[in-house]
Amino acid sequence: MAMEGEGRAIGIDLGTTYSCVAAWHHNRIEIIANDQGNRTTPSYVAFTDNECLVGEAAKNQVASAPTNTVFDAKRLIGRKFNDPMVQSDMKLWPFKVIPHPTDNNKPMIVVTYEGEEKHFSAEEISSMVLSKMKDVAEAYLGSSVKNAVVTVPAYFNDSQRQATMAAGTIAGLNVVRIINEPTAAAIAYGLDIGGNNVAKNVLIFDLGGGTFDVSVATIEAGIIEVKAIAGDTHLGGQDFDSRMVNHFVKEFERKNGKDISMNPRAIRRLRSACERAKRMLSSTSQTNVEIESLFEGIDLFSTITRAKFDELNLDLFNKCMELVEKCVSDAKMEKSSVDEVVLVGGSSRILKVQEMLKEIFSGKEACKTINPDEAVAHGAAVLAAKLSGEGNDTVQKLVLLDVSPLSLGVGLDGDRMCVIVPRNTTIPTRKYHDNIHTAKDNQISIGFPVYEGERSKGTDNNLLGKLELYGIPAAPRGVDKFKVCFDIDENGILKVSVEHMGTGVKKEISLTNYKDKGRLSEKEIEKMVKDAEKHKREDEEFREMAGARYALENYAYDMRNNTRCAAGMAAADKKKIDNAFESTVKWLESNKLAKVDTLKEKLEELKLIYDPIVAKMQHSPSSSSIKKWIKSVMP
Ligand code: ADP
Ligand code: MG
Repeated sequence: MAMEGEGRAIGIDLGTTYSCVAAWHHNRIEIIANDQGNRTTPSYVAFTDNECLVGEAAKNQVASAPTNTVFDAKRLIGRKFNDPMVQSDMKLWPFKVIPHPTDNNKPMIVVTYEGEEKHFSAEEISSMVLSKMKDVAEAYLGSSVKNAVVTVPAYFNDSQRQATMAAGTIAGLNVVRIINEPTAAAIAYGLDIGGNNVAKNVLIFDLGGGTFDVSVATIEAGIIEVKAIAGDTHLGGQDFDSRMVNHFVKEFERKNGKDISMNPRAIRRLRSACERAKRMLSSTSQTNVEIESLFEGIDLFSTITRAKFDELNLDLFNKCMELVEKCVSDAKMEKSSVDEVVLVGGSSRILKVQEMLKEIFSGKEACKTINPDEAVAHGAAVLAAKLSGEGNDTVQKLVLLDVSPLSLGVGLDGDRMCVIVPRNTTIPTRKYHDNIHTAKDNQISIGFPVYEGERSKGTDNNLLGKLELYGIPAAPRGVDKFKVCFDIDENGILKVSVEHMGTGVKKEISLTNYKDKGRLSEKEIEKMVKDAEKHKREDEEFREMAGARYALENYAYDMRNNTRCAAGMAAADKKKIDNAFESTVKWLESNKLAKVDTLKEKLEELKLIYDPIVAKMQHSPSSSSIKKWIKSVMP
């Protein structure tokens, strides 16, 4: 998107729990403090009888007006109401969420504002936070701000990115770029080390309130090249809080015989006490949790040790480490070639997490020179300055190469996943496949389901949309050819087009326009990557089977097509070919589960019929079509 209007561009880290804004000012990047003097602002919006509050003011009224104080909009943005993730999150939120009555299952937040019931989308709530950050920047810079770079978790999908852009637009901002959070942190780190000409491999570990992102990048003389990303859009500080909440719910029940889990007010108070205790445990080894009159007049006076907290969350911490290992191996690196581990996000302050990281990188201390709360906004502001022509030479010379997180492709006949853009491909990118053809004779329409995921069976992946072309000229199988083209822009947003090679008939979709099917949640996507590894063997078998099936089918069709009007072929041979073709196609139709070996045998049988005919034709004066045929069947 082009720069618009006068003035500078800012960088905004729109976090699940906290947001942060930065800009190029006084010849350097400055993190801008809000009206309360804080450098990060809670991503909270509250509604009262006469006003709408954002930031600290909103967070402060959460206890008195819980149903009217909205947070975690980032967990909702770009998702469907019936997304299992949304359904489970809703149980923890004091505010109400309902499906939009007409707009395809869009989740809507219900609040009372100015005495009336009002419904807001996650984009609208996020836009209020963005608007607040814009105000904070304008107040400090003393001028109006129009352009912004906004960050998203690396694993945000297309619709979550589009929705984040929409939030910017609603806030009156021109979102010049959407950038991945760990990539932004890499920029901040990369500029911090200056124009160092020695290539450095850096692992960015960003554990926030709601999301976990990890990326491996190579930084060399102002060129920041992301090699791989991994993460979970549903893993962060809030999950650690929940574990502690459950721990105290159980303890309370044990001590007092009362179950407080169904009392939202008690749970809310317990949750904030747990969050405070968790932060304390990053500096002390034991802390008190004290809540007066938590339930039916009974107090909760207890303590928790760091060891207990670590134990409650060990599986979650392990999950982070698994993703770190995966990211390093996706980057095709050894752990020993990672030169620097950079900590980002509030939850990276947890000592156990730092300890585990140190362990997997054989004792290497993580880099603490950049502020974990500010690195993302810092990097976004560098990119914003570059795009708006501000900043110094180093900023202007910055080159950024990011990657796409999941493989993208189309489903072909036999439910084969044909990958067009492999995961961790540098973006922006345009990739195509132009040798896709019809699967049946006289096929006049063709559909291409578009998938993201790592499985070799199309339907095992996540369906993003479907492209359909009609009015294809009737022809034998394989004659009509198609070019499928995938375009991913620098924001990570995907466009797919398909073109009939003969007629040039073309169709294009931007996948956000695809409304029929809600997209899968990130956790499911992450699960899909995991499943893919688990099912690797199964997939391999399928691929082999599909390949053998395809080879047989293709061989049969090629023979038939190529000999269809071959002059000089004996009628008896022609009949043999036709019969063999018919029976092969029929056999394939009624043996959908045929094994690889059987398929290969069938192919050999076919060859036994054809080879003598081929040989015979080679010795007779042959027409050009037969010569061509012979050329095509003989290796
Ligand atoms: P996000 O980017 O998702 O908004 P942040 O990076 O701002 O998140 O991190 C917020 C999370 O960090 C919260 O869950 C908060 O409880 C947690 N956090 C902040 N400080 C500490 C600390 N000292 N120890 C442990 N967790 C912390
Ligand atoms: Mg963050």
